Amino acid sequence: MSLNHKTRQNCPHCDSEQELNYYQSVNVTLNPELKREVLLGKLNRSTCTNCQKEINIISGFLYHDMTQKIMLELALADDETVDQKEQESKNRMMDELIEKGYIYRKVKEYSRLVEKIYIFDNQLNDLVIEQAAVRMKAILDESSKEVAGIEPNLDFKVYFKKTENNEITFFCYIHPSEMMEMKYDIKNLTLEEKNNLYNPDILRK
Ligand SMILES: [Zn+2]
Repeated sequence: MSLNHKTRQNCPHCDSEQELNYYQSVNVTLNPELKREVLLGKLNRSTCTNCQKEINIISGFLYHDMTQKIMLELALADDETVDQKEQESKNRMMDELIEKGYIYRKVKEYSRLVEKIYIFDNQLNDLVIEQAAVRMKAILDESSKEVAGIEPNLDFKVYFKKTENNEITFFCYIHPSEMMEMKYDIKNLTLEEKNNLYNPDILRK
């Protein structure tokens, strides 16, 4: 079941008070139409009754895929609404799901939630992808240091895109306006990582 709640907030465009819906959990098996909205980052979109412009509030939520047995939690850093009791009952629920063979991941950024969805939809092991991404980032950060005149403290963001022809393709950027694609050769993975890459089930209890 997908759960949504109502909140009152002012429209960011015209400042009129609006009653807005936001989801606390999304079950993409029972409500497959919501998956597209999640991937687009438009899960909570609505139209202002005053100015007719789109309002899209981003809030933390649970992403539940019963078919693939995946539970992803988006916990935004500035979300202070979760109280102790709520957190405890959530933890109990997660433990039960993990016992039932679920993969559970908690992420702090929306873009990481979407990345996890793509990784698991591609039947890949996200921990192996993470390892490859860490190495890709290290290579990029290192090479950018060698470029003269470049600003210090460069920090590349690396996101999974796809696997193809024995390569893992990542989106990489410092600024989103300068997005590039980089390929990581799967032969550079350790033997264990290679064996586990196409086996997300090894992550289950
Ligand atoms: Zn408005």
